[in-house]
Amino acid sequence: MVNTSSINQGPTTASALCQSCGLCCTGVACSVAIVSPTQDKTFFDLYADSIIVSDDHGNKRKKAWINQPCPVFDGNCSAYEFRPVDCKTFQCALLEKLMVGAVDPVSAKSIVDSILGALDKLAVQYNALNEQCLTRDEIFPVLNKLHRGAVDKASQSAFWRTYPQYLSVRYLIEKHIDK
Ligand code: SF4
Ligand code: SF4
Repeated sequence: MVNTSSINQGPTTASALCQSCGLCCTGVACSVAIVSPTQDKTFFDLYADSIIVSDDHGNKRKKAWINQPCPVFDGNCSAYEFRPVDCKTFQCALLEKLMVGAVDPVSAKSIVDSILGALDKLAVQYNALNEQCLTRDEIFPVLNKLHRGAVDKASQSAFWRTYPQYLSVRYLIEKHIDK
């Protein structure tokens, strides 16, 4: 999710970082974006999956979301004007640090670049082994699924041997982006 509008200080700085990043939109920082059927009506009508849920009192309401990679991400948000409120308000750990001055814009951009670079390498590694041509914007959910599918020790070992670059990506995400 490319976040820009909910920030009290430095919206231009935040926007620049998020626009150069996009990890929220490609399934790296978030696996879904929440969509409000009312506040995000245009987006909801066009793109969202939804289910009806009941609360403890039997009241029904619609719960909606989009799975990442986001269908409107093409290197940047192509639905920027009507992106969901969740996208406008989400702040990863790195963005939070930027907004309080705990990291400067150049360092924050450098961290984002290092993660994108690690994803590039992961895509190269995966593509070479699987005769695919996935990009860095597509690769993480694919590897994440493979990782989750490796349930026993032998398949986990095989996974790490085959995709050591995935460990680098996970390390960078957990260190800089996750909260
Ligand atoms: S709607 Fe835009 S900002 Fe939100 S996840 Fe999709 S591409 Fe990212
Ligand atoms: S991961 Fe952080 S820096 Fe990147 S788009 Fe999301 S909020 Fe912005």
